Amino acid sequence: MRKYVIMGVQGSGKGTQAGMLAADLDLVHISVGDIFRWHVQHHTKLGAQVRRTMAAGLLVSDDLVEGVVQERLRQHDWNYGFIIDGFPRNERQAEFFLESYDIDGVIHLDLPDSEVHRRVLARRLCSGCGMDYNLIANSPHEPGRCDLCGSALVRREDDTEEALAVRLREYHQKTNPVLAIFSRKEYVVTVDARPSPGEIQQQIRAKLGLPPPTPRAA
Ligand SMILES: [Zn+2]
Repeated sequence: MRKYVIMGVQGSGKGTQAGMLAADLDLVHISVGDIFRWHVQHHTKLGAQVRRTMAAGLLVSDDLVEGVVQERLRQHDWNYGFIIDGFPRNERQAEFFLESYDIDGVIHLDLPDSEVHRRVLARRLCSGCGMDYNLIANSPHEPGRCDLCGSALVRREDDTEEALAVRLREYHQKTNPVLAIFSRKEYVVTVDARPSPGEIQQQIRAKLGLPPPTPRAA
């Protein structure tokens, strides 16, 4: 049984790395962002609450996140363990998490703020179908047009230099104390999030003492 926490700023490829590790080790990938998106898409009561919060330009509260995570963890549906992404958000939640679960490691994907700016400001969204693009990693065939529906690509409203600077400051303020708590227990492995996804995955495994990724049949 393996239990991991993965932490990293937006644009660090946290979801990708968690997904790769989960697929290979048969871990359940618990992503707070995915859970919220599911609720919004399925128009649940919680989804409506999340949507209202975000429409008002606010962050979903730590308590709401905690409730969702607790409910998810209570399902105990993993045979081989889990990797959790998007939690804990603050010191109290980190202490609680350490008391409740025997965690094997905390993966910290480290990305300099300048690189976060470069990556996040390259994100585009299709105004027609909502497909995500990134002008660095995944640009459309025709500049400014969606490959799927041909609609114009736009920047997300909150992807401006100023808004991002505020989010980054908040992220560091909240995350540093959580990392400090995990570091005291010597759980944290810090991995440079700038190389390719495959290289990052290898680094994560080497630092956690895991075997290299299983080659997948093509
Ligand atoms: Zn489209």
